[in-house]
Amino acid sequence: MKVDKQQKLAEIAGRVKKCTRCSLYKQAVNPVPGEGNPNAQIMFIGEGPGYHEDQQGRPFVGQAGKLLDRLLQLIKVARKDVFIGNMVKHRPLGNRDPLPTEIESCRPFLDEQIKIIDPKIIVTLGRFSMNKFLPGEYISKIHGQARFVDFRGKKWIVIPMYHPAAALRNGKIMKEIKEDFKKIPRFLEERIEEVKGEKKEDSKEQLSLIK
Ligand code: SF4
Repeated sequence: MKVDKQQKLAEIAGRVKKCTRCSLYKQAVNPVPGEGNPNAQIMFIGEGPGYHEDQQGRPFVGQAGKLLDRLLQLIKVARKDVFIGNMVKHRPLGNRDPLPTEIESCRPFLDEQIKIIDPKIIVTLGRFSMNKFLPGEYISKIHGQARFVDFRGKKWIVIPMYHPAAALRNGKIMKEIKEDFKKIPRFLEERIEEVKGEKKEDSKEQLSLIK
């Protein structure tokens, strides 16, 4: 029987709920596995749940989430059409940074979500998710730039951006995140065209093999 993307994501959410791989679950109210369209063309990856996310079991629902909603409105993208996930699925208490061991423990869940959704572009929010794909880079240097990344045997477009929470604290970052968001539709369009081209090349190669 064919298991669809929605079912696969729900199955991951079920495993997140029972997960004890790191200690973050112990003090969390709810797991926050991520949510959105299983066929999303754009996937956003943040850091981890904060207080409001932990209370509601949903990603980006506090002040930073409200800003993310406004940024999506700015580019006329509906929240229901994207997928929003995090590096860790349970809240680090006091909103501290997740530890490398916690990120590594939680990594398989996010990796599976990326593979299932197979988005056209990945937008990382903050340095933790940027460093997953682009280790050693600095967000202040490369924010808003689309990068090709080899990840799990496939080529991906990753666009690092500041975390909305940082924009709420700093007017300069707020300006920059708005400008970076405005680039998303163009990056997406370009990627869609590229994928079409790659598919054409693949079918040409297949045809030449058949001959
Ligand atoms: S943060 Fe991730 S690895 Fe840690 S308990 Fe939660 S789901 Fe498991």
